[in-house]
Amino acid sequence: MTTIDREGCADRDRADPLAAFRSRFAIPDGLVYLDGNSLGALPRETMASVETAVAGEWGGGLVRSWSSAGWMTLPVLVGDKIARLVGAGPGEVIVGDSTTVCLYKVVRAALAMRAGRHLVLTETENFHTDLYVADAAARDAEASLLAVPRAELMNRLGDDVAVLLLTHVDYRTGEMHDMSAVTSAAHEVGALVVWDLSHSVGAVPVALGAAGADLAAGCGYKYLNGGPGAPAFMYVRGGLQDDLINPLPGWLGHSDPFAFEPRFRPAAGIRSMVTGTPPVLQLVALSSALDVWLDADMAAVRAKSLELTELFIMLVEQRCARAGFSVLSPREPSRRGSQVSLGHRDGYGIVQALAEHDVVADFRAPDTCRFGFAPLYLRHVDVWDAVDRLCTVLDQRAHLDPRFAVRAAIT
Ligand SMILES: *Cc1c(COP(=O)(O)O)cnc(C)c1O
Repeated sequence: MTTIDREGCADRDRADPLAAFRSRFAIPDGLVYLDGNSLGALPRETMASVETAVAGEWGGGLVRSWSSAGWMTLPVLVGDKIARLVGAGPGEVIVGDSTTVCLYKVVRAALAMRAGRHLVLTETENFHTDLYVADAAARDAEASLLAVPRAELMNRLGDDVAVLLLTHVDYRTGEMHDMSAVTSAAHEVGALVVWDLSHSVGAVPVALGAAGADLAAGCGYKYLNGGPGAPAFMYVRGGLQDDLINPLPGWLGHSDPFAFEPRFRPAAGIRSMVTGTPPVLQLVALSSALDVWLDADMAAVRAKSLELTELFIMLVEQRCARAGFSVLSPREPSRRGSQVSLGHRDGYGIVQALAEHDVVADFRAPDTCRFGFAPLYLRHVDVWDAVDRLCTVLDQRAHLDPRFAVRAAIT
């Protein structure tokens, strides 16, 4: 059995090719932050970028900044930065709206490209917002949503399916779909695939182009570190863009917004998917966070992510063997995203007690403790410290404190 101590973890940190990235983030001293999959940490350069945008561009430039500061081009520009992280080309990704709204738009757009078919297929375990909004998008297109367990997806895929909607990396377990294989299977029956990349982008290498993916949406505030409520993104494969119809057309997706024409004429390409005025300050924050990403080698990120998640699983199994945890995330590295989920009947209390020991993770009902590993700012010693403090919580039975008997609204 491999064993490692804290000094061994520190050795690994000294050899880590991504070690220098940590100093580009503002992480509170002593805090082990294992929730970057829910809200990514603050990049230091974001503070200066937002300050410039607020004081200089908004305060000084005022309305002139729409052109002079390039505000209007941000959705495309930031989209092109994200494209590099998901294996897409320039002009295939656009930023704006929340993930939920983006999902609505791409699912509806996909349905319109498969008129005559009336089914959106997804899995029962999909994130609830995906289920809600896909159901609404389907109904608005006179189609319906069918959710089946993951094991039945491939059998259910048939020539009545217009769109297969899947979250690439499962938010609860971190289990990852094989994007190429699933996309090919859907294409064989003539369906389009919409991928939700919320727990993939910045967490695992994504190759939308190579996988032949059709459409996708994903989140800006998780591993991308774009800040609370950061805008999300949409991807539409270049080859599909001629048939693209934005189901929520607005003036800024018009080919000539300032012509104030009464009829919608879509802008060329993915820009037609813009609906209203872009959230400039949020886009500035996301853009600067992406500049950090663009200096990182995704293969190195993936290698470190797997090291951190393996280390965490190993330490939990060695040091908390009798605590009653079940590892809910896949053991095979190729099927695991950048998180480890542990099942425990006192999971809520464990996560709360850990927070009091400066380890931030989160809890997902009914029994899942979720630990996210953001390789740009986490060290191996952080993993060691997290498990060490987990042992302390369990030894002291701190998680059984009656204060944790009632769950907070945000877990
Ligand atoms: C986080 C997440 C979302 C977020 O949706 P918002 O509209 O940005 O709140 C959507 N889908 C999945 C799978 C997520 O994990």
